Amino acid sequence: MTGPERLTTFEMIYRPYSLEDAVLEGQRCLQCALPFCVEACPISQDCRGYNILISQRRFDDAAKVVLRENPLGSTLCKVCYHYCEEACIMADRGIPIAIRQLKRAALDIGKSDLAYVPSAPRNQRIAVVGAGPAGLMAAWELGLRGYTVTVFEEEPYLGGQVGTIPKYHMDGREILDDVARFRNLDVTFAFGKKAGVDFTPEGLLQAGYRAVYLALGTSFHNTLGIPGEKLPGVFYAIDLLRALNQGPAVRLGSQIVVIGGGDVAMDAVRSALRLAPRGTVRLAYRKTRDAMPAGSEELQEGDEERVTYVYERSPKAILGTDRVEGVVFQRTQLSPAGPGGVRSIVPVAGSEETVPCDTVIAAVGEKADLTGLSPSLELKARAHAWPEGQRPDTMTGIEGIFASGGKSVVYAMASGTRSAEAIEAYLARKDGRTPIPRPDPFAEGKPPQLPKGYSGPTWRLD
Ligand SMILES: Cc1cc2nc3c(=O)[nH]c(=O)nc-3n(C[C@H](O)[C@H](O)[C@H](O)COP(=O)(O)OP(=O)(O)OC[C@H]3O[C@@H](n4cnc5c(N)ncnc54)[C@H](O)[C@@H]3O)c2cc1C
Ligand code: SF4
Ligand code: SF4
Repeated sequence: MTGPERLTTFEMIYRPYSLEDAVLEGQRCLQCALPFCVEACPISQDCRGYNILISQRRFDDAAKVVLRENPLGSTLCKVCYHYCEEACIMADRGIPIAIRQLKRAALDIGKSDLAYVPSAPRNQRIAVVGAGPAGLMAAWELGLRGYTVTVFEEEPYLGGQVGTIPKYHMDGREILDDVARFRNLDVTFAFGKKAGVDFTPEGLLQAGYRAVYLALGTSFHNTLGIPGEKLPGVFYAIDLLRALNQGPAVRLGSQIVVIGGGDVAMDAVRSALRLAPRGTVRLAYRKTRDAMPAGSEELQEGDEERVTYVYERSPKAILGTDRVEGVVFQRTQLSPAGPGGVRSIVPVAGSEETVPCDTVIAAVGEKADLTGLSPSLELKARAHAWPEGQRPDTMTGIEGIFASGGKSVVYAMASGTRSAEAIEAYLARKDGRTPIPRPDPFAEGKPPQLPKGYSGPTWRLD
């Protein structure tokens, strides 16, 4: 489908590979001795390993290689920002190996309805707060080690911000497919329970949980902080995108202005184009295109779908009486680079202009909701938007309580592993034993047999 054709539907953009196409793409992989792809992946997914298995038509084995170190494989094969592909040596020759799509082929064509196998029960409870990617990864790590894990989640659903990703990227069932593989682990979910309101993390320790992991993410939108923001017709991107995924259909006007420049703003403007195909949809950003934080894939797909951008505009006020009628923008310029190469935004005096519109979608960042949580946790939430423990191992100011998160699904998963390993090390220290490394997730004692000549997963290549 061409970009404009895509706008008639929320159907997924990327079609799955056919078996033959997947095999051909797998055969393009050079099987580098030092695979930059694996090194670039935050969870060190052995993509080189599944590429060669696919090239030899061994899809069941490829699926197992994916799922051995990636419990959210069905989600990541659709939405990962594929840091591996940026690093792939073939990128220098023009086209990197389509590693994310090959992961999808492994799981679509290979047997992926597998179940993880826990180690012997340890009869020790651990609490995870937040059922987003970080919390799910930690629950998997700890469940595999035989712990009894309860995941407390304030919402009635799994996945955290994954539930806001538009359906043209993923259809929404993927996270359920992933968590279905946890069925034999001692992991249970307590939905509708909010830390700071229904319970406290310290209270969980007192109630007998040996450690608590806070994976709170950033589920709360930032505001624009300008007059008129409360008018009907103003939406916040993450709330709007979640509502769109959950249905029934959201009604927007026909003159839409999206404010922001990141991936969430791109999701908002591309969704708005699909909702108002005959309307005027614009994205206003306060800096230039080069400075947009949105990823190159989103920008390229946005160009294909003919997103209209207005650069160097900062919103000053939203106008209207009963509902939105327009936005006052002021022109901005970037200053010359100062110390450290930083260029600040300089408003141009007297350059205000009004853009008529009936809908404003603000996509100006997200933050954590820390209501009711103890200041003694000393959560670090300034360097990045998600709360994290101050200590290098992510422990917070309260012993036994850990916290972390990440800028994308796979980075959040990596942080879940980091905190789960820290919890294991903390409990081992307390109990005077050696920490247990991640057990074989399928309890087979050995990984699927890799093809002759293949040097094995890179985590063994030190
Ligand atoms: C619109 C949008 C599109 C995105 N697209 C992509 C993409 O295509 N690819 C990608 O890799 N990343 C994408 N991301 C980013 C990615 O979703 C996040 O980086 C990732 O979900 C963060 O995981 P997390 O577990 O740290 O936090 P979250 O996903 O935010 O999960 C935190 C969970 O904790 C719960 N919670 C919070 N506070 C409490 C509390 N007090 N008590 C109980 N529960 C609580 C929340 O309800 C939530 O379920 C997107 C994000 C957005 C908003
Ligand atoms: S999880 Fe993401 S970064 Fe890692 S190999 Fe898969 S697509 Fe690449
Ligand atoms: S860097 Fe590219 S070519 Fe090399 S092993 Fe990884 S995917 Fe294959």
